[in-house]
Amino acid sequence: MPKALCIGELLIDFVSTTPDVTLAEAPGFVKAPGGAPANVAVGLAKLGIDAGFIGKVGADAFGDFLRETLQENSVDTTYLIAGEMSRTTLAFVATRSDGMKDITFYRHPGADIQLTTDEIGIGYVQSAELFHYGSVSLSHSPSREATLHAIRSAKGGGARLSYDPNLRLMLWDDAGNAKRWIWEVMPYADIVKISEEEWEFVTGDVDLEPGIERILGLGMQLLVVTLGERGCYYTNGHEAGFVDGFIVNVVDTLGAGDAFVAAMLSQLMQHSDLTSLEKVQLDAIMRYANAAGALATQKVGVIPSLPTPSEIESFLQRR
Ligand code: ADP
Repeated sequence: MPKALCIGELLIDFVSTTPDVTLAEAPGFVKAPGGAPANVAVGLAKLGIDAGFIGKVGADAFGDFLRETLQENSVDTTYLIAGEMSRTTLAFVATRSDGMKDITFYRHPGADIQLTTDEIGIGYVQSAELFHYGSVSLSHSPSREATLHAIRSAKGGGARLSYDPNLRLMLWDDAGNAKRWIWEVMPYADIVKISEEEWEFVTGDVDLEPGIERILGLGMQLLVVTLGERGCYYTNGHEAGFVDGFIVNVVDTLGAGDAFVAAMLSQLMQHSDLTSLEKVQLDAIMRYANAAGALATQKVGVIPSLPTPSEIESFLQRR
């Protein structure tokens, strides 16, 4: 059984072949595997962690392609379900000239939201050491209930839980509902990673302080706010600090957060008690994760850009 499990969306990103265009202007698209929790599973596997992915694709060519991609990257797919009733979810992505992403999802419904509670392997989930989840699989039923069931089962089994809300507001019928569900699953997490861009929506405040208190008050062991090229901020309630990012020539920032999460988790798995980690240890872990995030911006596409330990180590030695 895999040591680390990730649950959530696995889909096809059709990425515009041309930069600086809207979706309407884009002349063509290339097919790429997508879905943040699946990226984290691949990221962990590339870092040598025995990882598995739980989710649903359609029983179609795109679903087959996604399963093969996970398997080629040594991710266990025992609980990647191929659903007969809906197609693999698709997203079309273009990067506009102002740098903003223009994204349209084909998910009405898509297979990823069709995962059901009885498709969750309880023994599989309960034997995990680490369980990682997001909020995209909470936007619709039945994957909302399936995700909640898996989160609670993992917690009951004694896993350490990691949560990256990874806000995708356009997938929700209502912003209030998104916020409610993002918070609903927060108390289960031991580790939370939130990006600066999501911080104000999630916490209701631009400043870090009030949100930090509220999140740590839920009993969290580690909270990390990623700050793009500026690196990250972390706190475990005792120790806190900003860790600078690395200056690199960026090719494509898609997946930087997932690379960061996978690298951070791979390091945290080596420690049984996160609250007793000292500042020097946390600084080193965050520096390692910043290196993974920076490396992920160096190549087009997410999965090819997720780094191996030797790539991270040689990057750090050069800096
Ligand atoms: P997300 O991808 O989830 O939106 P961020 O943009 O904050 O999250 O990026 C996650 C991490 O990836 C950052 O904390 C940083 O370590 C690294 N990173 C992201 N963008 C850059 C960049 N332009 N240059 C260097 N590192 C980056």
